[in-house]
Order: sequence, then C-alpha cells, then structure tokens
Amino acid sequence: MKAVAVFPGPQEVRIVDQESPRLTLPDQVLLRMLDIGICGTDKEICSFEYGTPPPGDDHLVIGHESLAEVVDVGTAVERLRPGDLVVPSVRRPCRHPGCAACRSGHQDYCYTGDFSERGIKDAHGYMAEYVVDREQYMNVVPADLREIAVLAEPLTIAEKALAQIFWMMQQRPPWIDPETARGERGNGLSAVVLGIGPVGLLGAMVLANAGFTTYVYSRELPPSPRIDLVAAIGATYISSQTATFGQLAEQAGNIDLIYEAVGHSHFALEALKVLGTNGIFVLTGVPGLQAFVEADPARLMREMVLQNQVLLGTVNAGPDAFTAALRDLGLFRRHWPAVVPALIAGRYPPEQAADLILGRPTGIKSVIAFDVSR
Ligand code: BGC
Repeated sequence: MKAVAVFPGPQEVRIVDQESPRLTLPDQVLLRMLDIGICGTDKEICSFEYGTPPPGDDHLVIGHESLAEVVDVGTAVERLRPGDLVVPSVRRPCRHPGCAACRSGHQDYCYTGDFSERGIKDAHGYMAEYVVDREQYMNVVPADLREIAVLAEPLTIAEKALAQIFWMMQQRPPWIDPETARGERGNGLSAVVLGIGPVGLLGAMVLANAGFTTYVYSRELPPSPRIDLVAAIGATYISSQTATFGQLAEQAGNIDLIYEAVGHSHFALEALKVLGTNGIFVLTGVPGLQAFVEADPARLMREMVLQNQVLLGTVNAGPDAFTAALRDLGLFRRHWPAVVPALIAGRYPPEQAADLILGRPTGIKSVIAFDVSR
C-alpha cells in the first residue's frame, strides 16, 4: 500500500510502498483512510523543522487530520463495526505512572512531554491507505458528515480552547450567570480571530455561533474567497494591510477575546497590546523559527495585571473536544449551508501531497484522498 512519508536524514518527502498493516491485538481496528487534511504542522514537518519518526525508523508517515472507514475489528472491540466512519484522535499517552494527565486519559495535557502524536511525533500518521489503531482513540462520525468530517480535528483545537475560555469567562466575572446557554455566552462581547486559515475560520465559526461579535484580522486583501466566508458567517473581516491594531481596537471596542491562529510571534505580541479589560488571549499557533523581535515586557506585564487579563496557550484536544467538533460541524452546516463544504478546497491524490504541503497555502483545506472518486 501507499503512504506519504518524510525522511529527515536525506530531507525527502515521498511516497513509500509498505505492507498493509494487520490487526495484532483484540482491541484494534483496521481503518481504510478516506480523507487526510493538510495543515501548517505538516508544512513544518516537511520542511524538517518539526516532527520525529518513531524510535528506530528513518521516516515518519505524516497526516494527523483524518477521516477513516472501519474495515475490520478485533475480538474485543465493542463500539465499532465495519462500515462505521471514525475520526482518530492524534495524541497518545506517555508511559510515566506519575503523569496524572495521561493516566486519566487527558494526554493533551501531558506533563512529561513523552507523549506521541500520530503523524507528528514518534508515531506514524494517517496519510496511508490502511492504518491500524486502537478502538479507544476513535471518535464515531455520523454518516451524514462524510464530506466534511475531515475538518473535525482542526475544529477540536478551537473547541478545546473555547471550552476553557467559556469556563473562565463564566467563573471569573461575578456578574455573569454560569448557566448561560451555549449560544448566548458571547452576547455583548467582542472576539478577534488572528488568521484566516482553516483553524482561524473554524474558530471564528465557534465564536460567532456562541454569540460573540466576531472580527477576523489577517494580511489578506479582498477580493478573496476566504474573506467571503468570513462575511457569510456574519463576522467582520479587517485586513492588517489597511488597518493597524489600534484601528482594529477602535472598531471592535473592548476586545474580550483574541484567538490567535497564525503562529506568527510578532503579530501575536502586537495583538496582545490591544486586548481589552478582563480580556483573554488564546495562543494556538506553533511558530517555526522566526526573526528575533524586541519586546517591552514591563509594559505588557503592567497592562496584563492592571486589566485582569489572561494569556492561555492550548494544544491538541481530548475526547470532549472531538464530540463537540462533530456536533458543531453538523450545526454549522445547518446554519451556514454553503460555508462549511466550501472550506474544503479539493481532494487530491497522494502524489500531490508534497507540492500541496510545501506550496503556498490556499488557507482553505486541501485534502489527500487515496481514492479521489470516493
Ligand atoms: C495538531 C495537534 C498537535 C499539534 C502539536 C497540531 O497541528 O492538530 O493535534 O497536538 O499540532 O504537535
């Protein structure tokens, strides 16, 4: 079978021909991979700035955003049957007995750093025709989400972040009713999303859906299909090429939330300066090597303290975020029927993976499919 792999030694990205995997444990499932999304993390891995092959291997099969069909199940598998659609989670727990996060099934909060991530760190990924995985890491997908479920994993990043933010927002200001319904939690509040790639657009959908007055701020200039998508979900797009952070803040009023989804450290630091009183700043981008910039930490610290601000980094996601993402994909498609399918730029064969990953991102999701007719 075919798989797409990166070889850090000779610095190559290419198709490899491998033996198809087989079930070896009773709780395993055999997956036929249907869709594999590509993202900025894949670009960093294929540029040899991030990612590690499994110990002892000279290559890493990439791919961590995926949708698969179950084709065979081990004897102890209870929840899944052949024909079911699943989205696998990415991170696997470390082995340390003392890691309370991993030992309780919350490896997205792993303390030791010895976790593995499929397609990223110490474990092969999903850009292969067939994959074997364990039942417990599978998230069941309703059949009617077949065309869009590959977006679930990038959406989990926003779901995990937003679950923490809502919790914080509702526990912190004493005047907020902790029982506020999901769709009303952002009422009266302003949110700014930095970045107009898939993680930014999906984050903007979560925020708009929760009632925030949502702005998306990025470099792009109109006309652009991505900017059209921002308008279609009822958010406002502002280009950093035509408006400064100060002008953005004038338009948005008190910025209650900034959701960073670009991985650009200087841009993020500039944005922190316009975060509003009681505001929360969420960082989701993992920057590669970037130019050193000067900062004014005393000013940042003073502003953060005097304005009750929160700075939150968040990575990966647990089962609750996958459940929320799969629920919200269905919900978003009902609210904005043209928008969610338009996030998928196209399905391409694995032979085009390297060019798509290393080329200029379209910002809308490109998907690898081993059988583009399916
Ligand atoms: C993936 C996460 C992963 C993170 C860091 C992201 O692109 O979506 O699952 O934890 O990269 O490796």
